[in-house]
Amino acid sequence: MVKSPVWFITGCSSGIGRALAQAVLSAGHRVVLTARTIDTLQPLATRYPGNSLVLPLDVTKAEQIHEAVTIAESHFGSIDVLVNNAGVGYIAAVEEGQEEEIRWQFEANFFGPAALTRAVLPGMRERGQGTIVNVSSVAGFIGMMGMGYYSASKFALEGLTEALWQEIEPLGLKAMLVELGGFRTGMAQRGKTSDPISAYLQTAGAVRQYVQGMPEESIAGDPDRAAIAILHAVDEKTLTRRLVLGTDAYAGIMGKLATLQQEYAASEAVARSTDFVSVDPGITPFSLQ
Ligand code: NAP
Repeated sequence: MVKSPVWFITGCSSGIGRALAQAVLSAGHRVVLTARTIDTLQPLATRYPGNSLVLPLDVTKAEQIHEAVTIAESHFGSIDVLVNNAGVGYIAAVEEGQEEEIRWQFEANFFGPAALTRAVLPGMRERGQGTIVNVSSVAGFIGMMGMGYYSASKFALEGLTEALWQEIEPLGLKAMLVELGGFRTGMAQRGKTSDPISAYLQTAGAVRQYVQGMPEESIAGDPDRAAIAILHAVDEKTLTRRLVLGTDAYAGIMGKLATLQQEYAASEAVARSTDFVSVDPGITPFSLQ
């Protein structure tokens, strides 16, 4: 009998992570549900006793990453799909940013996922199969005022993932970015904000006010639908590298792409003018993606 794939999902205590764990378990797959506080995971796990394993995991703690991956692999025999879902948000103008909060933002959104990726890859390479799903944001494609550090952490995750898929696809492994628009998870309320500087009240301050005052019902994204879309994309035989979820995310990304196309096309002559005339750049690492 073919065994069902084993998913390892971070941040299952709420929102997208919780919805995804539910969807994946309902589909009959096996799941390692992780969270900083595991009490919240037990009710879901007990409904799928043979297919679930609950483990404590703070993605910013290297020793917990090592331990959770080791226990998961020995319990189920493999990790087939890693979902780096856990994430936090910090609303601050760039100048308002506090060192401690900026590092907290990057530890959870970038360094944690990078460490988990390194931890699961040896097993995936050994078995010649595996998928790494990195949950990003429309803000990982579009820098947004008031969210510069959040955007930067997701841009970092996107850059890492683009490099990753080029490195692991030849080994039979996959990596996928999920770029979410606004989803009703209450994430904004759980995030941190900086002390305001009055000069930024019309820009970052307005974003802070908008995000904090936004009623959940006005957010279009449904976490359960996002979960199903992620499950289907991972199950697909054809590789999806970027999964954009939410009408707002799709519109924002397409808008930026059009602007980028115009801006870069306008700079072509200058870009080409700076090469040594005798050198043909030919195939470079930038043209191999
Ligand atoms: P959420 O409901 O707040 O869920 C975030 C999860 O991450 C929680 O389970 C939280 O667990 C966990 N987490 C935070 N820091 C952690 C850490 N150090 N170690 C382990 N777990 C940690 O938010 P969400 O909306 O579902 O967010 C899921 C992902 O989607 C995030 O990467 C987020 O950036 C991204 N995203 C969300 C939206 C949106 O509109 N909701 C938009 C774009 C992107 P605790 O209970 O322990 O805090």
